[in-house]
Amino acid sequence: MPLRARTLLGPGPSNPYPEATAALGLPLLGHLDPLFLQVLDETSDRLRQVFGTANRRTLPLSATGSAGMEAAFVNTVGPGDVVVVAVNGLFGQRMVEVASRCGAEVVPVEHDWGQPVDAERVLAAHPSPKLVAAVHAETSTGVRSDLEPLAAGKGDALLLADCVTSLGGIPVRLDDWGVDLAYAGSQKCLGVPPGLAPFTISDRAWERRVERPQSWYLDLGLLGGYAGEAAGSGRTYHHTAPTGMVVSLHAGLGRILEEGLDAVHARHAEAGRLLHEGLAELGLELFAAEGHRLPELTTVKVPDGVDSAAVRKELLERYDLEIGAGAGPFASSVWRIGLMGANATPDKVTLVLGALREVLDR
Ligand code: PLP
Repeated sequence: MPLRARTLLGPGPSNPYPEATAALGLPLLGHLDPLFLQVLDETSDRLRQVFGTANRRTLPLSATGSAGMEAAFVNTVGPGDVVVVAVNGLFGQRMVEVASRCGAEVVPVEHDWGQPVDAERVLAAHPSPKLVAAVHAETSTGVRSDLEPLAAGKGDALLLADCVTSLGGIPVRLDDWGVDLAYAGSQKCLGVPPGLAPFTISDRAWERRVERPQSWYLDLGLLGGYAGEAAGSGRTYHHTAPTGMVVSLHAGLGRILEEGLDAVHARHAEAGRLLHEGLAELGLELFAAEGHRLPELTTVKVPDGVDSAAVRKELLERYDLEIGAGAGPFASSVWRIGLMGANATPDKVTLVLGALREVLDR
């Protein structure tokens, strides 16, 4: 079957990952080839720039965003440690699940879906947690939560941020804000195929990590050699790095940095603004709280009487355009429209609005 260019949570049909997919077609490097190690070092440097951090322990983990989440928790919390998790959507819920599997005493702070994290409530939930965790950009609801107030009030706790959907789409400045560890996914605004989890951990968090994490694969102490604690340090075999994927991430990050981080964020902001305005003109209502709407992931209330799945099917079949269903309890009452990476452009906004207008007959 010939493959057609469609994108997850974003309109096709043009290839939104030109640099990253071209890099996948390059001759494969061996995982111990000095040239690959150089690419890996450069990729980590590029990740430091997009994360806004000087953390020397910054690397792409060889697994998806969820492994970034697991790595963050297994390395920092063990049985009995108190973890406060802000829950305002599906991925906050997943953090609760992962932290409790580490044996942590988890204090979830529930919010209505569609609302941002209330830092005051989260910080008041426990007097001395070891770790506070929140999702910067909740993909399930299209909401941005501010990390700065959490960092400002965290006291002795470590602050963990899920940046899967924020990295490369909206500003992320971990060091300025005071975030101790964070992870992302290659497949969202970075514009790279799924399969890697950019990850970063501060010295402060490193010093407090658990001695023997429950996971061997994600034990950052063992990964030190792979991560190259400092460029030029001796590396030992840990696992066979997915070299093609790292080369792809290297290329995707190169594209972003060449365009300029500020320009990339501005492009996402503009595309999001145009989409939000256009949806309002179509008489559609947005789901996420005003003032906290992500430009890269827009949640729309499905109008009464409209069959959500039928609309998505028609968009896919007639326009090669995939929008997401809602998540969790909003599976059939919300749509999620992604404008990520190279998809965050005015022409893609025009395409998605035009297609919706036709399909909804508005
Ligand atoms: N966190 C957020 C905010 C996400 O959007 C996702 C995936 O969409 C994940 C975590 C999990 O990442 P993955 O599906 O790459 O494992």
